[in-house]
Amino acid sequence: MNIDDKLATLKYNKDKDSHLTIDNDVCIHCKNRYCTYICPANVYEWNDIKKTMTIRYENCLECGACKIACEKKNITWNYPNAEYGVKFKNG
Ligand code: SF4
Ligand code: SF4
Repeated sequence: MNIDDKLATLKYNKDKDSHLTIDNDVCIHCKNRYCTYICPANVYEWNDIKKTMTIRYENCLECGACKIACEKKNITWNYPNAEYGVKFKNG
């Protein structure tokens, strides 16, 4: 089973507000943008033409890797509100 197949087994309950927030002005000056590489769910997508970061927080697995990887400490990370976020099949 590949990663996409595994991700398809998860259930998500989307909150109306993101539990992940960034300052886009900081991202503009970020050299490496590690968040776009480390996230297993491809939550972060950089648009190099518009110079904006899209955050698909509804797909977040709540692993915390992006917060550690952001070298500018630009990710404010909270758990989703109760009853929202990812539900693991066997969790
Ligand atoms: S690693 Fe941090 S500062 Fe860099 S693009 Fe991602 S969120 Fe922005
Ligand atoms: S917590 Fe994990 S899954 Fe969620 S956005 Fe960060 S790296 Fe991606």
